Amino acid sequence: MARKEGKRVKVCGSRHSPSDIACTTGYMINMKHINKVISVDVDKCQIHVEAGVKLEKLNIDILPRHGLALSVLGAISEQTIAGAISTGTHGTGYNHGIMATNIVSLELLTGRGEVLQCSASENPDVFSAACCGLGALGIILTVTIQCEPAYRLHEIQTSTTLDDVLDNLDAYVEGSEHFRFLWYPHTDMVVISKLNRTERSISTTPPSWFWNKLIGYHAMEFSLWLSEFYQPLVPWINWLYFLIFSSQPKERVDIGHRVFNFDCLFKQLVTEWNVPRNKTGEVLRELRDNIDKRRFYAHMPTEVRFTRSDDIMISPANGRETCFINIIHFRPYGRKTLNTKYWVVYEDILKRAGGRPHWAKEHPLRNKELSELYPRWTEFCDLRKKLDPHGMFLNAYLERILSD
Ligand SMILES: Cc1cc2nc3c(=O)[nH]c(=O)nc-3n(C[C@H](O)[C@H](O)[C@H](O)COP(=O)(O)OP(=O)(O)OC[C@H]3O[C@@H](n4cnc5c(N)ncnc54)[C@H](O)[C@@H]3O)c2cc1C
Repeated sequence: MARKEGKRVKVCGSRHSPSDIACTTGYMINMKHINKVISVDVDKCQIHVEAGVKLEKLNIDILPRHGLALSVLGAISEQTIAGAISTGTHGTGYNHGIMATNIVSLELLTGRGEVLQCSASENPDVFSAACCGLGALGIILTVTIQCEPAYRLHEIQTSTTLDDVLDNLDAYVEGSEHFRFLWYPHTDMVVISKLNRTERSISTTPPSWFWNKLIGYHAMEFSLWLSEFYQPLVPWINWLYFLIFSSQPKERVDIGHRVFNFDCLFKQLVTEWNVPRNKTGEVLRELRDNIDKRRFYAHMPTEVRFTRSDDIMISPANGRETCFINIIHFRPYGRKTLNTKYWVVYEDILKRAGGRPHWAKEHPLRNKELSELYPRWTEFCDLRKKLDPHGMFLNAYLERILSD
């Protein structure tokens, strides 16, 4: 129908990408009902599912029934598996890749109308491209995911200074299976989380309405709203929230996905670029100096995570051990504010350090710059043209990044 009408098609998952990557002026195919389990191989810890299945359905309903779990997750599980892999969604762990590195095979319906079976041995180039394909190559119909036996995670949370983490980065990053830290700009303090698989039984503190909801959500939203009118409040808010929620050590044991995921609170603008892991210190110190010297106000927290390198064609971690740095600007009560100065300085620092933007998040890079950042960029673009010769799956986002 789209072809006859000269329209385009965009396939979407949960529409959780904070950019226009999943938008279109043509037809939109919503994959939410394409979410069935096709088969499970418990011995190999592999599951073959339709591509619209949400991660939370896998975590809660499907995988536990077979004693399995996903090896790594990001902050939330509301994404579909195809949406997550198509944008290079990642969690953290120096020995873990982005989520797409756990895809064993997939089925792709191309713009030419053919269905390709893809894996490391069958159509390997298409497989490599489609594992982070930006929705540009066609529709992923099914995927086989490499899982692992269900596990619990032991999380230890402590605080320290930013300099301590940066001076001893390798020891921190490689000292646990999944390491991440949250930096509170203007305070110089960070909260570190060390996550390891454990045999210990579940021990968690039930959430408190007063601390988690009233102070941690409503009071925070209100104070950030006030700071929209008087920005010098921001450093005080960052200090206060660090002292209340993060200055004391914490510990818990829980089912893996419950430890990986957390509450992302209310509306926000985010941007996230990644740099080679060995540039982490240089980049964060420069960002801190700029925040201090230029006197712009940065919301907390800046989230810093790590993954191993991979060979997926345009994966953010292609060919390098990677550090992801996510900055945030909350939009209390939905206010439309743009901390442009902070964003521009951040992008400039990250760009100079060889930074690559998160595909799902708003960024200003174009074809030429991307071709310098991704060794296989031209191969990806050529393959896209071959699989979708009439540009059926293009949209404004893809046209921007593919044009000069
Ligand atoms: C609160 C929040 C927290 C987040 N946390 C993290 C995080 O911790 N780590 C991280 O890396 N990212 C994170 N993200 C980003 C998120 O993981 C990505 O935006 C992800 O792509 C969203 O998945 P989705 O199912 O909503 O896909 P959509 O946003 O609907 O689509 C994303 C892309 O995938 C394509 N696509 C979707 N389904 C298919 C299909 N079947 N075949 C082909 N292409 C398809 C679309 O065309 C589009 O190009 C977060 C986002 C939010 C809103």
